[in-house]
Amino acid sequence: MAIIVQKYGGSSVADTDKVMAVARRVVDTVMEGYQVVVVVSAQGDTTDSLIQQARAISERPPKREMDMLLATGEQVSIALLAMAIDSLGQPVISLTGAQGGIMTDTQHMKARIREVDGARISAELRKGQVVIVAGFQGMTSTHDITTLGRGGSDTTAVAVAAALRADMCEIFTDVDGVYSADPRLVFDARRLNQVDYGEMLELASLGAMILQPRAVEVAAVYGVPIHVRSSFSRKPGTMIR
Ligand code: ASP
Ligand code: MG
Repeated sequence: MAIIVQKYGGSSVADTDKVMAVARRVVDTVMEGYQVVVVVSAQGDTTDSLIQQARAISERPPKREMDMLLATGEQVSIALLAMAIDSLGQPVISLTGAQGGIMTDTQHMKARIREVDGARISAELRKGQVVIVAGFQGMTSTHDITTLGRGGSDTTAVAVAAALRADMCEIFTDVDGVYSADPRLVFDARRLNQVDYGEMLELASLGAMILQPRAVEVAAVYGVPIHVRSSFSRKPGTMIR
C-alpha cells in the first residue's frame, strides 16, 4: 500500500474548524487507498506566544528548557487532530517526536535529525491507523527533547517520508504553491507547476517562507518528491522533484 506523508502548518490547524477540516482531508486520503502519516505544527502563533512567555521570565532562558516549552505546542495539535480524526470513525494514534523515532543531535533549538527510526510508525500503520507525528521536535540519544529551529515541521515531514520510503510528501500551507516572486508584492507573480530541488533550495534560502531550507536539503538527498499545496482548496500546487 502506498504511503503518503501530509504536513499541515500552524495556520492550517489554527482553530477547531480548521482542525476538523484537516481531519476530513486526512480521512479522504485514507479513502483514496493510502496509508497516511500526518505531521503537524503548533496551532496558529502558539510558538511565538510560548517564546514571549519565556522571555517574560528570563532574558536568557536555558535552551534545553526552551525546547521543553516549545515542544508542547505541537503536542497540543497532535492530540486535538487525533481526537478530530477519531470522531470521524477513523482509527488514529498521535506520537510525539520521540515516540515517532525522530532522533537528533544535542543542539537545542536548532537540532539536526540524525536518524528516523520508523519502526513504531510502521507498526501503527500496519494496524490500519492514521499516524500523527508532532513536527519540529525530536529526542537526543540521552532522551532530552530537542526542537529543529523555526519552521522545522517541514523537515520532520520530509525526514519521515524518507525513512518510510513514502511515495509523496505533501506540504499543506496557506498559499497554493510556490510562486516566481512573492505574490503579495509582485503583481504578475506566477505559480510554478514544478521546480527542482536546487531552485527550491535557492528560493527557501532567500527567505521564501514556504519550506524550511533544511527540508529541501533532506528531500534532495533522499529523492523525496514534495507537493506544496493549499490546505484551503483542492487545487494542485507545486511539485518539487
Ligand atoms: N511551530 C514551529 C514554528 O512555529 C515549527 C513549525 O511551524 O514548523 O516554528
Ligand atoms: Mg509554526
